[in-house]
Order: sequence, then structure tokens, then C-alpha cells
Amino acid sequence: MTRKIAILAGDGIGPEIIVEATKILDFLNSDMDLGLEFEIGLIGGAAYDAYKSPFPEQTIDLVKAADAVLLGAVGGKKWEGLDISVRPEKGLLGLRSELELFANLRPALLYPQLVAASTLKPEIVSGLDLMIVRELTGGIYFGQPRGIRELASGEKQAYNTLVYKESEILRIAHTAFKTAQKRNGRLCSVDKANVLECTEFWRNIMDSVAPEYPDVELSHMYVDNAAMQLVRAPKQFDVMVTTNLFGDILSDTAAMLTGSIGMLPSASLDINGKGMYEPIHGSAPDIAGKEIANPLATILSVAMMLRYTFELGTVADRIEAAVNKALDNGIRTSDIYSTGMQKVSTSQMGAAVLSGLK
Ligand code: NAD
Repeated sequence: MTRKIAILAGDGIGPEIIVEATKILDFLNSDMDLGLEFEIGLIGGAAYDAYKSPFPEQTIDLVKAADAVLLGAVGGKKWEGLDISVRPEKGLLGLRSELELFANLRPALLYPQLVAASTLKPEIVSGLDLMIVRELTGGIYFGQPRGIRELASGEKQAYNTLVYKESEILRIAHTAFKTAQKRNGRLCSVDKANVLECTEFWRNIMDSVAPEYPDVELSHMYVDNAAMQLVRAPKQFDVMVTTNLFGDILSDTAAMLTGSIGMLPSASLDINGKGMYEPIHGSAPDIAGKEIANPLATILSVAMMLRYTFELGTVADRIEAAVNKALDNGIRTSDIYSTGMQKVSTSQMGAAVLSGLK
């Protein structure tokens, strides 16, 4: 069986962290005969430099033909002055919409070795392991009409539209219930049903899907309360599912509970489980080229790819165990360093995980 992976390193620290992740994939591929095939493409600023487009035809063809995409990060000062239509970040949006990646899975897992990195008290966050499922291609970010208009009074008015079709809510609901089934069987749907009709509709659809998943316990929470609960008692959550806008905010909040942006992977899935996997951080231009970036978020994104697209959960477990082992051994890149630990470079961290696999 052949499994095709498109690898898009992107900009800034992207190439440095992707190299370490591909070493892990290469090793597992030959060790376990996984049938993985890799093809490399350009995205973001690097693609703009080569083709005057952040998401050129060549890359579109590549990602369409692949079963999964591994992405580093895009963006950087060099391209900030470009017209918004060709900025690196447009490449990412193009990729999401071209592949119809409607479900964004963002785990927030606090490694016990890194409890001190969180800004919250250890008793609040230790053992934290939650997953946010964010709807990614609908809602107010894409709703029409939108813009700025002039009222009859002559005053200007800005407007956006929050819209969700039943089919859009149904597909994210199924992804969220299935995700909860693979975890601890608890799903909290987050909305603002007391104020917004659109999210009352969302809540009703979540309720209508629930009987199909009797092993999952569904609850609902208003978004303002959810934000509060995330910092008050985050361990109460297993899986949270929510709209594009609420998910954007809550997933960053949840990520920061762990205190280490360099540790968190993500997945964006289509209806068939094809996915794009990337660390949640950006291209970190301030540290690019210094060989100090933490490659673990990207390596853990590879684990998510194996689990969610290729259904190779045991191989994913193996990567996660190797990451744990490196942390147990006191190996730290500078973003997660604390006194008494061994500070290492990007490639040394990659090598530590690789030796844990072996
Ligand atoms: P960022 O995530 O790149 O960096 C924020 C801070 O975290 C920086 O201090 C950086 O050094 C640090 N950091 C990030 N990743 C790290 C890692 N792996 N190891 C150690 N430290 C790490 O966010 P930003 O500075 O706001 O954005 C920089 C560029 O990245 C911008 O052009 C932005 O548009 C782009 N961006 C891209 C993505 C993406 O590709 N998915 C996401 C967010 C931002």
C-alpha cells in the first residue's frame, strides 16, 4: 500500500523543523515498511519568490494528489509589503479551501515534564489533555454579505455575516463525535445559543446527531463560560467542538495553558480523513536560521497524521513515547528550557527523538 505525503516546508523556521520531522518519517518508513512516499513542494513566501504566487499550480496539483500534507509554517517580514492577495498566509488559506479542510483538530496536552512552563498553577493544569475541534471553512470568516457601506444618514457601517448550513454543522458534528469516541467519550459543544440564532441552530443539530453516538456524552456550554472554564478548570474537558470564530480564540487560549507553543501539533481534515498537518506556531522569523527552534510540534504533527489519516495509531503512539523519553531525559530546546536541563539545538532534539524510536 502506498501512502503519498506532500511536504511543504514554507518559510522561516519551516525548513529547519520539517527536516527533523522527515527524518522520523524516513526511519519509521523503513523500520515498519509503511509504504510512505514523499514529494516536496513550495508554499508561502518561498513559493512567491519562485512563482509569484504563495500557492502555485504545481503545489495545488501536488497536494491534490497526496493523501496527506505536512506543512512547516509560512510568512515573514520580507513579504509583508506584498499585496494581500499574494501574501504567504494566502497560501495557507488557499490550501485549506482547495482541499476542503473543514475540521481543525487542536490538542492541548501538557507534558508532565513541562508543567512549570504553564502560567497556571500546577494543580490546575497538570494532566491536561484536551482536544478542540474547530469548524474551519464556514461561519463569520467566510459569510456573505460583508464589507463597509454607507447608511442613508451618511454614516458608515461595517458588517459581517454569521452563517452555517445544516450540512456544514452535520459534518463537523460527526468529526467531533468520532474524535470523542477515540478519546474519553466526552464532547462539549460551545455556542452562544442564548443570543445568536445561528448557534442555536448549531446546538440543535449537535443534539440531533448525539443518538448516533450513544457512547459519547454530549454537553453544551456558552462561549463566554467556556473561555472562563478553560482557565479556571481546564481538565473538565475532553473534546470541545465549536464554530470557526469561537474556535480560533478558544484554541489559542487552550494552547497557551501548556505554555509552550513549540510543542503543539494540529490537523485539518476533509470529509474523507485526508489531512494537512502542521505545528500551531508560525514561521518564527526572530529565531529562523539560528538552529534553536523546537521541532517537537512538527514531529507530533507527524504522529497526528499517522493516527488520523493513515489510521496507524500504534505508530503514532511510538512517536509520542519517543518525545516523552527525550523530555524525561532532560533534553530541551531553549523555548522549554529550565535550570538543570540539557539545552539542545533543533537537530539535537530531532536526534534525541530518533534515538528514542530506535
Ligand atoms: P510565531 O508563532 O511565528 O512566533 C511567536 C513566538 O514564538 C516567537 O517569539 C517565536 O520565536 C516563538 N516560536 C514559535 N515557534 C517556535 C518554535 N518551534 N520553537 C521555539 N520558539 C518558537 O508567531 P508570529 O511571530 O506572530 O508570526 C510570525 C510569522 O508567522 C508571521 O508572518 C505570521 O503571519 C506567520 N504565521 C504563520 C502561521 C502558519 O504558517 N500556520 C501561523 C501563525 C503565524
